[in-house]
Amino acid sequence: MSEVSAAEAALATEGQPTIFDKLLSGDIPSTEVHSDDLCYAFRDIAPQGPTHVLVIPKDRDGLTRLSKAREDQKALLGHLVYTAGQIGAKECPEGFRVVVNEGVQGAQSVYHLHVHVIGGRQMSWPPG
Ligand code: C5P
Repeated sequence: MSEVSAAEAALATEGQPTIFDKLLSGDIPSTEVHSDDLCYAFRDIAPQGPTHVLVIPKDRDGLTRLSKAREDQKALLGHLVYTAGQIGAKECPEGFRVVVNEGVQGAQSVYHLHVHVIGGRQMSWPPG
């Protein structure tokens, strides 16, 4: 993890409106990849590969981070991951990575759950 993302993760606050609310309302522009009743997918502003898309629930409803997901949000979580898979399959036929960063040590910097879809280049393991 870079020092920048580590610092952002350490400073991020949970439970407040996030930059993604402004993105969803259109107050901040974003490049749409997919939209449906439940989720919105857009291109990450700091792409970590030729494809880097974030899939977010339109209604955050307490879903700030994966560990806070409620039982009644399991279908929504499935929809987010399914949508991530569809986007990855379309944009990165050679393979891609789907990531959810969680909490400070997971390098989460925005507390509105989001699924990263990163691809278009060779990945390595383990992640940083
Ligand atoms: O998983 P994490 O919380 O670190 O990811 C947040 C992501 O949101 C980053 O990849 C960052 O580049 C992205 N972002 C964005 N547009 C913004 C603010 C953040 O795409 N306006």
